[in-house]
Amino acid sequence: MTTGSTGSGAGTGRIVVDSGGTVLEADDAAAERLGRPAAELAGRSVSDVLGSGADGIAVVAAVGHELRSPLTSIRGYTSLLLNRWEKIGDADKQLMLGQINHDAERVTRLINELLDISRLETGRLTLTPRWVSLPELAQSVVTSIRATSPDLEAEVAVGADVPEVPADSDKIEQVLTNLVENAVKYGSPKGLRIEAELVAGSPGAVAVTVRDAGEGIAPEDLPRVFDRWFQREHGRPNGTGLGLWISRGLVEAHGGQLTVASPPGEGAAFTFTLPLASP
Ligand code: ADP
Repeated sequence: MTTGSTGSGAGTGRIVVDSGGTVLEADDAAAERLGRPAAELAGRSVSDVLGSGADGIAVVAAVGHELRSPLTSIRGYTSLLLNRWEKIGDADKQLMLGQINHDAERVTRLINELLDISRLETGRLTLTPRWVSLPELAQSVVTSIRATSPDLEAEVAVGADVPEVPADSDKIEQVLTNLVENAVKYGSPKGLRIEAELVAGSPGAVAVTVRDAGEGIAPEDLPRVFDRWFQREHGRPNGTGLGLWISRGLVEAHGGQLTVASPPGEGAAFTFTLPLASP
C-alpha cells in the first residue's frame, strides 16, 4: 500500500485510514493509547476511534488507491482516444473527455488537500495578503460552482459599510468554495445566501456567513464537523471529511474564526470572520 503522510509523524502511535476516514490498520502503540486491541479499531470511522484522544497518534492517509484509480481511468480514456480517434463518435468522445476532466479534478483536489494539511500542520502556510472585495469574490465563487452545479441559486448580500479586507484572496476563495460546495452537496442548491457584515471593534472584522436552506446539522454532530476525517454521511461522492478542517485552519491563519450554527428547522449557517488588520 502506498501511503501519504498527513499526520505529524511525531506521534508514538500510527493509524492508517482510507480517504473515507475508515481505519484500515492501527499499530500496537496506537491501540495501547486508545485502550483497545488493534483488530477492534479496523473498519471503524477514525473520528469515532480517536474521540478526544488523538494526542500522540499520527493519522496517515492511504492515498495510493485514491490517486491510482482516477489516473488509471485517465490513461485508459486518453489512450483509447489517441488510438481510435476516427472510429469514436462525437457523443462518446464528449463523454470520455468529461470523465477525464472529472478524474483530473479529483486528483488535483486530493493533492491540494494533502499539501494544505501538511502546511497547516507544520505551520508553513504562507499568506499573501492583498485587498479583497468580498462581494466580487463571492460572486465569482458562485459563478464557478454554477458551472458544475447549474441548480445553484445563491444571493450575495453584503452590507454597504463592509470594506475590502486584507486577506490572501486564493485562500479565502478556497474557504468560500468549500462552504458553498458543502451547502450544495449536503444542504440544498436552492435558497443559498452569502452574507457579509461589519463586526464593530478595534480594529474590527468582517463576518461572512454561508446560509443554506437544507436540513441542517443535528446538534450532536455540530461540534464534530470541523474534526479531521469527520463525515456525517458516508459514501458521498468526492467527500474526504477534510474540507472544513482545512477551511478552519485557513481562516485561523488569517486571525479569524470559522463557526457553525444550525437552529432546529433551519439549514446550516457557517460563519467566518476576517480581522480588518493585516495578518
Ligand atoms: P468533505 O470534505 O467530505 O465534504 P467537510 O469537512 O467539508 O467534508 O464536511 C464534513 C461533514 O459536515 C460532511 O460530511 C457533511 O455531513 C457535514 N456538512 C458540511 N456542510 C454541511 C451543510 N451545509 N449541511 C449539512 N451538513 C454539512
